[in-house]
Amino acid sequence: MVVIRFVCDVMLGRLTRYLRMAGYETDYPKDAEDDALIKKAAKTGAVLLTRDHRLFQKAKDHAKAFLVKSNDVHEQLDTVARAFRLQELAVKTRFCTACGEELQKVPKKSVAHRLLPRILERQTLFWECTHCGKLYWPGTHVKKINETLKRLSDQEKTGEKK
Ligand SMILES: [Zn+2]
Repeated sequence: MVVIRFVCDVMLGRLTRYLRMAGYETDYPKDAEDDALIKKAAKTGAVLLTRDHRLFQKAKDHAKAFLVKSNDVHEQLDTVARAFRLQELAVKTRFCTACGEELQKVPKKSVAHRLLPRILERQTLFWECTHCGKLYWPGTHVKKINETLKRLSDQEKTGEKK
């Protein structure tokens, strides 16, 4: 199986979050210079996603690079999903959307003191970021994102049949 990972340029913060949510390892080095981004992609075998035409031209000789043309995050995700045949876009709770590190499942009682009572009442599954400690649970935002991802993934399937 080919593992696809990404490096996003500074203009692709929202796309980064979506890719992470869908379970794809995605670097988002906010302060990196063009050369650092290219080096990072080349070194890790990641695909450099960029909105910057100049950076794309420069990068494509050294690393896998992909020019993202749209300004709309849904269109961006759609193009990237098609181009790299990302299957079954769905929330995988694998990577932290804030920092991109791996999440690990944690028992409810170990995080109970950090949760609001209404969350504590309704949720049973929890994940914690191994790096920044951010907590995740399958709340309403996950449902919404899943719907978006599923719609995009369905569109792709229909598109392929034509
Ligand atoms: Zn984190």
